[in-house]
Amino acid sequence: MSISPLMPVYPRCDIRPVRGEHCHLISEDGSRYLDFAAGIAVNALGHSHPGLIGAIQRQAEMLMHVSNLYGSPQGEALAQRLVDLTFADTVFFTNSGAEAVEAAIKTARIYHQSAGNHERFELITFNNAFHGRTMATISASDQVKMHKGFEPLLTGFRYVGFNDLAGAEAAIGPNTAGFLLEPVQGEGGIRVATPEFMHGLRALADKHGLLLVVDEVQSGIGRTGTFLAHEHFGVTPDIAAIAKGIGGGFPLGACLATEKAARGMTFGTHGSTYGGNPLAMAAGSAVLDVIGNDEFIAEVRAKGERLMARLEQFIGNYPELFEEVRGLGLMIGLKMRVEPRGFVLHLRDKHGLLTVGAGDSTLRLLPPLVIGDAETEEFFEKLSAGAADYQPEES
Ligand SMILES: *Cc1c(COP(=O)(O)O)cnc(C)c1O
Repeated sequence: MSISPLMPVYPRCDIRPVRGEHCHLISEDGSRYLDFAAGIAVNALGHSHPGLIGAIQRQAEMLMHVSNLYGSPQGEALAQRLVDLTFADTVFFTNSGAEAVEAAIKTARIYHQSAGNHERFELITFNNAFHGRTMATISASDQVKMHKGFEPLLTGFRYVGFNDLAGAEAAIGPNTAGFLLEPVQGEGGIRVATPEFMHGLRALADKHGLLLVVDEVQSGIGRTGTFLAHEHFGVTPDIAAIAKGIGGGFPLGACLATEKAARGMTFGTHGSTYGGNPLAMAAGSAVLDVIGNDEFIAEVRAKGERLMARLEQFIGNYPELFEEVRGLGLMIGLKMRVEPRGFVLHLRDKHGLLTVGAGDSTLRLLPPLVIGDAETEEFFEKLSAGAADYQPEES
């Protein structure tokens, strides 16, 4: 038998973290890494946050799981907090980002079908999008590398260029249900929607009776310096998917919707065994205790601005490596002139700095939202040293 017990869909990696301390990971062999990946925007509070640990411990002792057949004071409380913090009137809890996007897709379809518009099932999505790895969410993306071997895809998605408003308008037809987009594309390379694009999609949705659905699985929960990233644009969606940061490391996601957009999501239309379980609710609630206030989020915005300004200066020293700094808040991309994968490995293996690769030759920086000056200094020391001794051929 040569297949590994762990299904080999991820590369083997020598870094094997066994412990986390604030913004650092410690691996099996004792090496320390500065974590500017944060579980891909999940560990918003860093690692070993006492508030999050305590909330999970207390809830685990009290009640870990009950069926959604029973009433949920914990779920009602967290849903109310999310409603208070966002555009939404109602919340469906999930265990992952892909499930949150799935719930958003279903909410958008049934919105039209419950009103008798059975032909309106198609969502217009945007190139290089990433919405997850389920059949519906890979079908929602035009990225062929995620489709190969899994055809046939689900019908009901139509792809248009990101930030191409004229293309989006031209794609509207009798089958269109709405638009689905990441306000800041993560996996696609930290590409930020233009204000004209966001406002234009909202206006098109209003004109044609369509829904604007945002995938904020990566960009949400304070990451970009507003609670949800769409707030930067002053554009209100009808439906949003969140996950990643909301659990701070505990698997939790949610589909948020306005009352109108959720009109089809009535008794019996959707469900989840684990979605909204008390342990997840305790984790989400502990995360909001820290992040769900204007002061914390304003600080993320200020930290992001300082980091990006310093990165702008820094990349000037290495014009052969870096082309551009882009992003919002602490969702930052360095567009590179070389293949970023090799540089990610170099930073990790030679300098103890964890970052993430992304599409469009971009290196992603997604530090815990709780980074301070000490972590920023350490980051620039490691990044400078890494850029200075990088030979692109080495990988
Ligand atoms: C990570 C991500 C997802 C999928 O989340 P999972 O928890 O891996 O299912 C969906 N959309 C975006 C924008 C993401 O970044």
